Amino acid sequence: MKDLLGGKGANLAEMNLIGVPVPPGFTITTEICTLYNQKGREAVVEMIKDDVMKSVAHIEKLTGNKFNDPSNPQLVSVRSGAPVSMPGMMDTVLNLGINDEVAETLAKKSGNPRFAWDSYRRFVQMYGDVVLGMKPTNKTDIDPFEAIIEEVKEKKGVKFDTELDVDDLKELVVRFKTAVKENTGKDFPTDAYDQLWGAIYAVFDSWNNDRAILYRRMNQIPEEYGTAVNVQAMVYGNMGNNSATGVCFSRDAGTGENLFNGEYLINAQGEDVVAGVRTPQQIMTEGSRRWAKLQGISEEERAAKYPSLEESMPECAKQLVEIQQKLEDHYHDMQDMEFTIQDGKLWLLQTRNGKRTGAAMVKIAMDLLREGAIDEKTVIKRMEPGKLDELLHPVFDKAAVKSAKVMAKGLPASPGAATGQIVFFADDAEEWASRKKKVIMVRIETSPEDLRGMSVAQGILTARGGMTSHAAVVARGMGKCCVSGAGTIKVDYKARTVEMGGKTYKEGDWISINGSTGEVYDGAVATVDPDLGGDYAAVMALAEKYSTMDVYTNADSPRDAKKARELGAHGIGLCRTEHMFFEGDRIKAMREMIIAPDEATRRVALAKLLPLQRGDFEGIFEAMDGYEVTIRLLDPPLHEFVPHQLETMRELAEQTGRTLEEVKLICDGLEEFNPMLGHRGCRLGNTYPEITEMQARAIIEAALNVKAKGVDVHPKIMVPLIGVKNEIQMQANIINETAKKVFAERGETVAYKVGTMIEIPRAALVADQIAEVVDFFSFGTNDLTQMTFGYSRDDAGKFLAIYKNLGILKEDPFQVLDQEGVGQLVEMATRKGRAANPDLNVGICGEHGGEPKSVKFCNKLKLNYVSCSPYRVPIARLAAAQAAVEAE
Ligand code: PEP
Ligand code: MG
Repeated sequence: MKDLLGGKGANLAEMNLIGVPVPPGFTITTEICTLYNQKGREAVVEMIKDDVMKSVAHIEKLTGNKFNDPSNPQLVSVRSGAPVSMPGMMDTVLNLGINDEVAETLAKKSGNPRFAWDSYRRFVQMYGDVVLGMKPTNKTDIDPFEAIIEEVKEKKGVKFDTELDVDDLKELVVRFKTAVKENTGKDFPTDAYDQLWGAIYAVFDSWNNDRAILYRRMNQIPEEYGTAVNVQAMVYGNMGNNSATGVCFSRDAGTGENLFNGEYLINAQGEDVVAGVRTPQQIMTEGSRRWAKLQGISEEERAAKYPSLEESMPECAKQLVEIQQKLEDHYHDMQDMEFTIQDGKLWLLQTRNGKRTGAAMVKIAMDLLREGAIDEKTVIKRMEPGKLDELLHPVFDKAAVKSAKVMAKGLPASPGAATGQIVFFADDAEEWASRKKKVIMVRIETSPEDLRGMSVAQGILTARGGMTSHAAVVARGMGKCCVSGAGTIKVDYKARTVEMGGKTYKEGDWISINGSTGEVYDGAVATVDPDLGGDYAAVMALAEKYSTMDVYTNADSPRDAKKARELGAHGIGLCRTEHMFFEGDRIKAMREMIIAPDEATRRVALAKLLPLQRGDFEGIFEAMDGYEVTIRLLDPPLHEFVPHQLETMRELAEQTGRTLEEVKLICDGLEEFNPMLGHRGCRLGNTYPEITEMQARAIIEAALNVKAKGVDVHPKIMVPLIGVKNEIQMQANIINETAKKVFAERGETVAYKVGTMIEIPRAALVADQIAEVVDFFSFGTNDLTQMTFGYSRDDAGKFLAIYKNLGILKEDPFQVLDQEGVGQLVEMATRKGRAANPDLNVGICGEHGGEPKSVKFCNKLKLNYVSCSPYRVPIARLAAAQAAVEAE
């Protein structure tokens, strides 16, 4: 029905069918819009004229009024309504059918001339804006009608529209009409039918305005849908003290509590409820009492000044309670409704499934399941996976956020709420944290050297970097709140200050950051902890039950692994070993290894790292007892590990018995113009095989050690950045030979697998050759996106936002997998790989592995698993379950 009547029209028709009082009206279908665009205006008017006249007559019959009759006028509203909501289109014209004579009649009949003339001036304004095209298209231009209102108010010396009297409103009508004549060259239409047809054409024409076309393109809405036109008798909530208007929800949209709630105003029009000039009152007495308590208003004052609808209009309230139940029972979901009471008679103007928070989404769905209103699969389908984020991280107290001052805005890189004192350097973060201080690390950008600081900070704020920048990826992995790429903040490391929103903050000043919205607030904003039991756990159990693709996690430490397991991960899909080299004194051994002049010296340094790596792996294997653990060999370019500060270089020189100049020279020699495409990944392991040997040994020895303790261990060794078959062949040989050696030494074996990342386009192209050598593929879609688009993942933030605004790209390809381009490579490599090696296990471990749309795409390609940061595991699990249920 929605396809034919549009969303709004379908809901109105359905309400009418089930006996809910809606003002009489009719809907011109979307099919007519399509014909209008194909055959033109005349042909269509010819076709529908009789039906429109008959339908108007039907309204007249039901209301006893007459359209176009000044002595007994019927006014209508005209609204557009596509099958899917489209903000780019014409919206609403109210009070259509009014002219000078009608206004006089309305004034007399209602005994309220202000109401009549206010309705009239609103109509001329809306009609001028949306039908006659006078609404400015540029958001900085002023609406010509608003400009006139401002002039009249200024002349009169008043501030609010409500302070204008009948004569002022009459003046507005005259001046509005003059503006229309000047602007369009035509007189403002006075005939009600001329007005009606004008509005109908405008709705149809709006289907093809630039904004609507762009919106359709961006959201893949088919051109042929068309929009419907809804024409409805006007009802008024501003006809006196026996009239009212309001909005209500069948359940609490914030908490999900099964409590009918809403707000209303006596003697008001719809927009007054949201305009904030008058204080809206609560519909139910229970809600009214709760509201009064929060406001610090006594029961006496509440009952006298702000009575509930239940108290002020008990009959209408009773009817409304019955209707909201009826609508919820009908739609099997929480409803968001608009109503008007005209002279004691209740009318419903709209109903739709209500928007809600993550917590409400979970609670409402589970409550409806328990009530028998929906089944388990519907619960899964109803979830918006991304909204689970809100449930997993500490959140700001809603009331506190309302009064918080926003100083800057960046990318919502890692969700959550964090409050702390500003520090600029990692070592300060550690030092302050050791003194039990809460800190927020503010950086221009972060590098692996900042890791320890980041891990002890409450949150991270950076001026540069996108959603897959170092700060963002690491923060998400840690489940740490992060706002990245806040371009307007100015960090001065030297002065230890950051300037934002016109204020200069010093080290130690308090700020709060919202990783779910990207907002940065002044001062400390209060937070509250999430509850992960109850309904949340129940929804996750359903997701587990219905998903077919598995969900792993990206974790580099036993702590993260444990957390991910708690959150439902069934293995580790990516353990980035490079992060481990930054802990404690390890970096020293690592640096020693890097600047070693020959293999023998390198081996000495590597031997120091071996036991440390082995220990890390043991911890992770134990945390993932029973599940696969995919450990990736060293990936980043070596120069990321070398010292940049003179002091550290001096230390290294001392440690290795070299001169400072020698160390400097070696470090300079490691610098690369384009390190991302330089000496990194398997290129390191193939040019320095002893690194791969050490890491393979650490993995196999750790596996044997924990196996001896009774741990069910399943190691997978993963080689990064393969583009050529020989690269993986050589690495696989080193790994297998090392394993063989260790097995011989220990007289014991353990099953392990060897696989590769597919993150270079060439690897995807020759996936069949590569699959012959490996047990598994894991798509590194961060690098694959970087190299397919040719966008640097660390710099693209600068232009991607502009690209999105211009509509060049619909989404950031580093956040949402580009199915059209990069997705083709993933599909092809999976197909070719599996054809060459039917047992090939295939997963994805780029950031896209935790993004719902990308997860669904992976499900379609029948990947074995997706792997993502611990806090994204529930989101991926839910998206996987949705994909499975939707595919049925
Ligand atoms: C990737 O490239 O998608 C990946 C997971 O590896 P990294 O982000 O460590 O480069
Ligand atoms: Mg990569």
